Amino acid sequence: MKTDVLIVGCGVAGLYCALNLPRDKKVTVVTKADAEQSDSFLAQGGICVLRDETDYDAFYEDTMRAGHYENNPESVRIMIESSREVISDLVEFGVCFEQDGAQFAYTREGAHSRPRILFHADETGKEITSKLLAAAKKRENIAVIEHYTMVDLLTKNNVCYGIVGHDANGEYSTITADYTVLATGGIGGLYEHSTNYRHLTGDGLAVALRHEIKLQDIDYIQIHPTTLYQETPGRKFLISESVRGEGAILLNSKGERFTDELQPRDVVSQAIWKEMEKEGTKHVWLSLAPIPKEEIMSHFPNIYAKCLEAGYDVTKEPIPVVPAQHYFMGGVAVDEYSKTSMERLYAVGETACNGVHGKNRLASNSLLESLVFAKRAAEQMKEMYLPADAEQTRDVLEVINITDKTAYAGYAEKYKEAVLTAIEKEKENHE
Ligand SMILES: Cc1cc2nc3c(=O)[nH]c(=O)nc-3n(C[C@H](O)[C@H](O)[C@H](O)COP(=O)(O)OP(=O)(O)OC[C@H]3O[C@@H](n4cnc5c(N)ncnc54)[C@H](O)[C@@H]3O)c2cc1C
Repeated sequence: MKTDVLIVGCGVAGLYCALNLPRDKKVTVVTKADAEQSDSFLAQGGICVLRDETDYDAFYEDTMRAGHYENNPESVRIMIESSREVISDLVEFGVCFEQDGAQFAYTREGAHSRPRILFHADETGKEITSKLLAAAKKRENIAVIEHYTMVDLLTKNNVCYGIVGHDANGEYSTITADYTVLATGGIGGLYEHSTNYRHLTGDGLAVALRHEIKLQDIDYIQIHPTTLYQETPGRKFLISESVRGEGAILLNSKGERFTDELQPRDVVSQAIWKEMEKEGTKHVWLSLAPIPKEEIMSHFPNIYAKCLEAGYDVTKEPIPVVPAQHYFMGGVAVDEYSKTSMERLYAVGETACNGVHGKNRLASNSLLESLVFAKRAAEQMKEMYLPADAEQTRDVLEVINITDKTAYAGYAEKYKEAVLTAIEKEKENHE
């Protein structure tokens, strides 16, 4: 198959990039699972926005403080300054945010000094991503191919010419493209306890490692302090930070508070682990008692329903919570236009690292970051569009033998090991 721009991944980053590319380019978006099965659909809390100019300094400072000042200041500036434009685009795509009369309603999460988060009940990600997906499916120049897994990049002399992948039946094929965009999301599937979809296994990182594409801070992995504690295996259900932002408190087994719930995520997670260790317990408790029942039902209907399913009525009793892997701050190193160290290859969303989050992400900055920098990638491709060299593309295809089924045998396990080893190595480098 041949396309103009190939996007690997169908979350907010991949979809928004596709929608910002020129309509005269053939854009192909492939995804490993159903189009609806991305972490973008799971985002609960909301999306940050610069409310007004008077909030710029505080927004900037909150992002930097949460990131332990290891953030790239230029990326942070770009994200904040582009935030209103992105929200306007989303509204044009039909996204509805909670209103307070004629104005937007804003909520607050841990480590935010002011309420500046737009939300749609506790299903903000679903609201945004489903509208972008519907728009992409309507565009004649965009094709979304589900259950197609990228296993490798087609490269020569540090230039990317597309990918190798397989469909749900294990049939391998190549897709060549003038430009390729990695939008493969996070790495939660590599961990036993994670809030992420299990199929998100850092494939973008694995192929980058294979082709010596530059990575950055890949040991910067965020743990979410509050996921519902359950004995069953699989994806852990997240109890959004905005629950604590609205007043919920953390309690130990004696019903005592033990930390300030609105500190950055890494600090709250540390406090919970310390308390669990001290008490010899597998979890702590989160009480929503300070939040009025009507607000729980209107702002957190999904959390209410999910906890009820697990046997807890959050309007009447505390719920057991435990920290779990949640977000990946590091990734494929990119510049401020999301360009990687390989020619004709971009990376956007959670897979990419432009340094915006530093060592730790501020809550609700990731949807925003994904959207802002996905649009910038699309704009750069649009501006500098140059078809790939046909002869080079043919040469690359000639050396690829996709009919040899053994070529990628056992790749998933090998990739997982390679990524985890690289993370450990980076940890040592940082120490
Ligand atoms: C439970 C939860 C709650 C969250 N809440 C918030 C929030 O309130 N606010 C906020 O800002 N952020 C939140 N986040 C983080 C945010 O949702 C993600 O960082 C963001 O959606 C990432 O978008 P993405 O497009 O990069 O990746 P994703 O949405 O994860 O999409 C990745 C895509 O890549 C595809 N893919 C992966 N590997 C391959 C492959 N080899 N071949 C083909 N396709 C592949 C997947 O199938 C998927 O389509 C939350 C995350 C979780 C898990």
